[in-house]
Amino acid sequence: MASLSWDYVLKFVIIGDASTGKSSILVRLTDQRFLQNPDPTVGVEFGSKLIHIPDQNKTIKVQCWDTAGTEAFRSITRSYYRGAAGALLVFDVTSRPSFTNARSWLADVREHADPNLTCVLLANKIDLCEKDESRRQVTREEAELWAKEAGLLFLEASAKTGKNVEEAFDQAARDILQKI
Ligand code: GDP
Repeated sequence: MASLSWDYVLKFVIIGDASTGKSSILVRLTDQRFLQNPDPTVGVEFGSKLIHIPDQNKTIKVQCWDTAGTEAFRSITRSYYRGAAGALLVFDVTSRPSFTNARSWLADVREHADPNLTCVLLANKIDLCEKDESRRQVTREEAELWAKEAGLLFLEASAKTGKNVEEAFDQAARDILQKI
């Protein structure tokens, strides 16, 4: 039987514009599935997963919160952010506006959570560009540059294929462990 003990519990929040794939990332992380047409009214709100960091021999329990549709109304409250050690800032690589708006999401989380929290910028839906590069609206270089300037980790990811989803939490957890 797998061990159910852990060394740290870390709260993560997933933020970004509506339809960028936040719920899908949470479902992928916790359930290893992808839903082509998720019902927006039944957004997954919360999930948890154990992540093992072998070289540090530490197991982290990631408790991850999703906005469950409230981002459309910009009504995310302080209590949502409170106590977060990490954030996944998601944009859709086929939607330029979702990248532009990432700046205000970052300002929001830095204001309402710990300003030093670890944040991963996630360029989601990269599977669409892998199929057809003309769908890409944000280059890797541009996103990487902004991430560097803003002090964010950066990955291109896909909730559909699973690419870099667990990796994003893994990198964030490692960064947080260094600060503890
Ligand atoms: P949210 O509003 O940010 O929580 O976004 P959802 O998770 O509801 O996803 C919005 C839409 O994008 C849904 O139709 C998903 O199936 C789709 N989607 C999410 N992630 C991906 C991805 O990585 N690749 C592709 N091709 N579609 C995705």
